[in-house]
Amino acid sequence: MLTYPNAKTVARALSPDEPVILNRPHAARRAAQFFTQKFPGKVLYAVKANPAPDLIEVLWDAGVTHYDVASIAEVRLVRQTLPDADLCFMHPIKTPRAISEAYHKHGVLTFSLDSVEELEKIVDACRDPETGEAAEDLRLCVRIRVSSEYSELSLASKFGCDLIEAPELLQIARQHCDWLGVCFHVGSQAMTPFAFVQALDRTRAAIAQASVVIDMIDVGGGFPSIYPDMEPPPLEDYFAIIHQHFEALPIAYNAELWCEPGRALAAEYSSMIVKVERRRGTELYINDGAYGALYDAAHVSWRFPVEALEDDLRDADEDFAFYGPTCDDADYMAGPFALPGDIQAGDYIEVGMLGAYGAAMKTGFNGFGDAEVVVVTDEPMMSLFDGSRQRVASDNVVSLR
Ligand SMILES: *Cc1c(COP(=O)(O)O)cnc(C)c1O
Repeated sequence: MLTYPNAKTVARALSPDEPVILNRPHAARRAAQFFTQKFPGKVLYAVKANPAPDLIEVLWDAGVTHYDVASIAEVRLVRQTLPDADLCFMHPIKTPRAISEAYHKHGVLTFSLDSVEELEKIVDACRDPETGEAAEDLRLCVRIRVSSEYSELSLASKFGCDLIEAPELLQIARQHCDWLGVCFHVGSQAMTPFAFVQALDRTRAAIAQASVVIDMIDVGGGFPSIYPDMEPPPLEDYFAIIHQHFEALPIAYNAELWCEPGRALAAEYSSMIVKVERRRGTELYINDGAYGALYDAAHVSWRFPVEALEDDLRDADEDFAFYGPTCDDADYMAGPFALPGDIQAGDYIEVGMLGAYGAAMKTGFNGFGDAEVVVVTDEPMMSLFDGSRQRVASDNVVSLR
């Protein structure tokens, strides 16, 4: 892959008509090292945030040995890229064939579930095909539903068993495995560590009610990255609070603590160069949008950082909205995105922080979606890991219980 110093040199060198994805392996490596060195447990990368094999290799080299995969395609992809990685199939609704292939062919032992039906499916799909005997090495993980109220993107309604069902499901699951975990997801971009406190409190209630031995607690993803107007407290505070509440749970003395960051590991990995095709007042028609890497900008009004890449723009910043390239009216991003007032058609813009749920969202709808991929060596437009941030107080959540 070609390497350039920064977005400006890429725009000058290529004058690209299609968007260009700019990858920063050093930023992903730094994020991974931060997590593997500071999180007080095991770190799984949630592959759906960005399944690019190049990124997965960077994370592996930085010490991330476990991968949270959610589909059989992700199982195959990670297994092909990293033959020795530990894969954990953490989607609570899987097909029997996917479970069977993951277990029998790819060595996947860890599966999540949130219902008795799924438990039975897993047990059946992992039987010895000749003898019909049940697998003895399954590692099961019961997903409980927790609140998403502290997160920017909810994950509270789709998956997870309710507190009322959790104790019985834990008891039944315990009969089918020697290693039982509890997992949850507090929602993506959790803006305070308290998100994890409420989730661990629910976990405690479920375990106490079930009175079964628990070997692992998986606090899921939700660790934030940094975006305009979304500056989270230090990740160290999240880690400290999680550790403190984990230690107080009624679980096996040697129980493991896991987390599954997607966004926090991947966000700084990629940005993108887009081209302004037309200007209409304060609306810019650009060549990526709702069906591309800017999916979240269109669908949940996510504000990514932007920077004009031209040297001849003189005016002060104004607020712009974007239209994407497809013929769909919904291909619209309200922003606002602050760019020089004299920006015009033909100019290039770098959109930052697209490594998680950005580059991975591109589709070919309407014939758009091609993008060249290059490596750049400069800093991401925003970073939680470059040592530049002032320590801000974590709004007293440590003392709340
Ligand atoms: C999406 C997902 C993650 C990653 O979430 P982030 O908010 O990106 O950290 C982790 N675990 C599971 C089960 C997920 O579905």
